[in-house]
Amino acid sequence: MTKFISKYATAAVPRYTSYPPATQFHDRVDEHIYRRWLESISSDDSLSLYVHVPFCETLCWYCGCHTSVPNSEDRVAQYVEALHAEISRVGECVSGLAKVKHLHFGGGTPNYLKPDVLIAVIERLMAAFTFESNAEIAVEVDPRSLDDGHIKALAGYKNVRISMGIQDVSLDIQKNVNRIQPFDQVVKLVGQLRDVGISSINMDLMYGLPGQTVEHVRKSAMMAASLKPDRFAVFGYAHVPWFKKNQRAIDEKLLPGGQERLDQADAARDTLVECGYDRIGLDHFAKPDDAMARAQKGGTLRRNFQGYTADPANILIGFGASSIGSFTSGFVQTEPNVKKYREAIFEGRLPIVRGLEFSGNDNLVGSIIEKLMCNFEIDLNDFDQETGRAKDRFLPVLAALQPLQDDGLVEISCSVVKVTETGKPYIRNIAACFDEYWEKSSARHSRAV
Ligand code: SF4
Repeated sequence: MTKFISKYATAAVPRYTSYPPATQFHDRVDEHIYRRWLESISSDDSLSLYVHVPFCETLCWYCGCHTSVPNSEDRVAQYVEALHAEISRVGECVSGLAKVKHLHFGGGTPNYLKPDVLIAVIERLMAAFTFESNAEIAVEVDPRSLDDGHIKALAGYKNVRISMGIQDVSLDIQKNVNRIQPFDQVVKLVGQLRDVGISSINMDLMYGLPGQTVEHVRKSAMMAASLKPDRFAVFGYAHVPWFKKNQRAIDEKLLPGGQERLDQADAARDTLVECGYDRIGLDHFAKPDDAMARAQKGGTLRRNFQGYTADPANILIGFGASSIGSFTSGFVQTEPNVKKYREAIFEGRLPIVRGLEFSGNDNLVGSIIEKLMCNFEIDLNDFDQETGRAKDRFLPVLAALQPLQDDGLVEISCSVVKVTETGKPYIRNIAACFDEYWEKSSARHSRAV
């Protein structure tokens, strides 16, 4: 396996939460195009809404999210005011016949907003869009600051899912990343959520953190699994200090090497599988009766900007600084700078600064990569039903995959490309062979494993 580390694990490849990847976005997609896409939404479409809250109480040193510690309450209040205006403005462009299936709050820390403020944003969304009666409301929370008020307020909705970061339960690792979170606090919080009827719970774990060993990862996975959440996401720490300043506080001498990272990823996977979770795609795990596990078994699992999802909506509308929207014609991204985002909203604009309009093979390649990332197997003929000769069309891709087949990462038989067990950790490298934009020399992506 060691030979794969220098060859594949350290390669910079996109995470393929979208195709083309966000690194291809450009400023020729503006608010006029966005408005056109919003206005073309019809009753045949279903919606997923995403709200970004770019604030945290403190910064965890490993964090790669778009967030900051606000220096005044005014800054937060003005952001929320802008968010309300954006929701109303976008809602006016969208046909009320398209129904919302899923609402997701991410960040940052959505529970940085006080309970009444968070609820007012939900209510504004519900007034501006038509929600399905069983629409899911998913909220990423920081367990250190989710208080009784938040829990009580969220319990007022029917289908709430809470995602919480655990990362690593050991105090020595928590100190290395500036995130002290006693496990007792998590145990208490899970009990409180279940007491009020919020039973859909996701947890995030990490490997590759400074000082982490296989034992740390195993212990964290065991302890977290003992609380029986429905789903886990296990992320490898992506060290990009040239891009994320907060990561410069991390002691690089303590970062695990390539083989150790692989061993830690394996330890997390094996522990969660032993605890009864199904492996979902590259880095998610779910109880066998969970909607995500059912979606994987039924071939309907999707991958979007939040990672793997069972959300079937075909349109994603993003609100808040840096949020991304996904339409049948392309992607849009909102101004990431909080001050400029607010200014754009208060000037009466939709604050779109970049995006991408699909062209050429984008849709086709995007479908192939999404299926590959979700199912680890594709039949190229399924993507070229007109001629049934997709294999010929993909000859250059198959040539690019040949060295990976020689290394035992994929098996190619007629038009079927199947990722082997050995190849699963390198699924991003395999997907990259289909990617028409991928430059091997680009350092703009994180390492594959
Ligand atoms: S990991 Fe979560 S709580 Fe920590 S800085 Fe990032 S968004 Fe904030």
